Amino acid sequence: MEIYGADISGIEGQSIRFTATKELERRGVTLLGLAQKVVREGFQRAAKAIETLEGDWSKILCNHGYTIQLNPAETPKTSSGLDLPIAIMLLQASILQNIESLSAEIEHLEKDVEKIGEKEGRERLKTELLEKIDSLVRQRELILKYRKHLAENKSKYLLIGTLDITTGRILTPEYGMFGMISSAKTGFDVIIPEESEAHGAVISKARKDIRVIKAADLQEVWNIVLGVTTPRKVSYDSKQIKRKRLTHYVPDLKAIDGVALAKRAMVVALAGGHNILLLGPPGQGKSMLAQAATKLLPNLSHDEMFEVNKIYSAKGELKGNEVILDRPFQEVTRVTEAALFGGGARPPLPGLVSLAHTGVLLFDEINLLPLGLIQGLRNTLNDRVQKIQRLNTIIEYPCNFIMIAAMNPCECGWYGHLVCPQCGRIFFSPIQECPEHPELKLQRKCICTNLKISRYRDTLTQPLLDRIDLKVFLSPYDKGQDIEYDYASSTVRRQIQAARDIQQKRYGGREFGNSNACVPDRSQFEKYTSPLDSNVKDFIEDTCRRLIDTKRKEVKLLLVSRTIADLDGASNIRIKDIKEAISLMGLEHPYFRGSF
Ligand SMILES: [Zn+2]
Ligand SMILES: [Zn+2]
Repeated sequence: MEIYGADISGIEGQSIRFTATKELERRGVTLLGLAQKVVREGFQRAAKAIETLEGDWSKILCNHGYTIQLNPAETPKTSSGLDLPIAIMLLQASILQNIESLSAEIEHLEKDVEKIGEKEGRERLKTELLEKIDSLVRQRELILKYRKHLAENKSKYLLIGTLDITTGRILTPEYGMFGMISSAKTGFDVIIPEESEAHGAVISKARKDIRVIKAADLQEVWNIVLGVTTPRKVSYDSKQIKRKRLTHYVPDLKAIDGVALAKRAMVVALAGGHNILLLGPPGQGKSMLAQAATKLLPNLSHDEMFEVNKIYSAKGELKGNEVILDRPFQEVTRVTEAALFGGGARPPLPGLVSLAHTGVLLFDEINLLPLGLIQGLRNTLNDRVQKIQRLNTIIEYPCNFIMIAAMNPCECGWYGHLVCPQCGRIFFSPIQECPEHPELKLQRKCICTNLKISRYRDTLTQPLLDRIDLKVFLSPYDKGQDIEYDYASSTVRRQIQAARDIQQKRYGGREFGNSNACVPDRSQFEKYTSPLDSNVKDFIEDTCRRLIDTKRKEVKLLLVSRTIADLDGASNIRIKDIKEAISLMGLEHPYFRGSF
């Protein structure tokens, strides 16, 4: 039989092979293979928990010393989940001890008893010796009974659990359970604490090549290994799985009034994986729109769900039978670098950018983030993976999310709004007159100077702005937008799903990702998409001459247009797709062109 434990590195579990040898010369246990403090303490917990077993197992254990080797030898082991394999390894090693030496010791003691005979005054010593012989005989019987079974047990066990020293109960380690179970190799029997059954069940549903078994305590695990108990396989019971919700209230798109342009931009963003910036006065539905986004994205695929659960488990955020089944929504408000990007504590933990992986990360008032974080964010958005330097290794956390950023367009927040000097009604440009007082010229509501506005806008920095494909304004006073199609979340979700399916077919399996937003450059774009019609090509060239100053933006225009065409199921990009992309990208908007 082979015994493995699992540790966590980043979000991935790493299986660790255990081997043990008996030491004749010394007692106690030596752990080799960079066992850190918590693992060395694990040996103490294992020894105490073995005392809770029925039979003389803890006595057998005391007869010799052991050396346990953890492989691979060169990576530090840090999980309390290694208690269980340590305990089973010790028990197994104790059985392999030399039965002859045990018999010799019994014989030796029997001779001593004979020598004492019926001598007076030695009764006490004699009783002690006889008791010792009894115990050794029982131990020998135990070993003889199970040695053959252990020798014939060819199973490969992955054992995960922290031990309770008074009851022998096995508990879930705080960090990384999901990743640890997933690290099981084909053919493994994975034994996990009963309390984590849901995690085991979710994984075993997708992994038919492993058997996941639940156990209550060390006794049950040892009985399984000895073959005296029938293993209890985990069962997928949807009632028992506790769906961990990351958003408490998800509004329906239909329930959000007006702001049709922003809604449409949101749909395009979600369909193509594009980042989006919402500009508008404070408290006008920007975060409501962002929250609505999670209901519009397609269901998680099996692989994605695994990854998301690994991340939350590595963060220690999945308690008991909690499992994440929905795409994550996370919101960034006043954060530290470690909380945003990961790292920091021991063990290093994933940050918000990873907790939002496959889902949505909302940055409300993004321009108020410290400049250092804004610069870091630029790299994160570029790489879609967060690297954390740790000692000699680099830990990588996945972080492929859609960024929804929101900000006021200027310090007062009313950029672009006009007010009637007579009745005080507020309008959002381009409306140029008050219906009741058409003779009066509307006044600017924004009190900021042009210089102040441009300074405020530039707090985002150009490199970050370049990584946000879609930029739209929204205002509760915007009445000039017609709703062209049904905006109910369920309908929109189907459209987005269809557009995503098209992209999945187009890019599936490519290293850069499987959405339009992931395509890195023009040559890759041309490689995977159908050629542009000549009139479309001309239109794009003309647009680029007028509005676009970098190659990157040109590619972005093509990609956003591609997403709009995908939402329509169109195989070729049409001029109307490009026109809409220009509008949703804010390419012609005076705010971004600096003419306020
Ligand atoms: Zn008026
Ligand atoms: Zn202003």
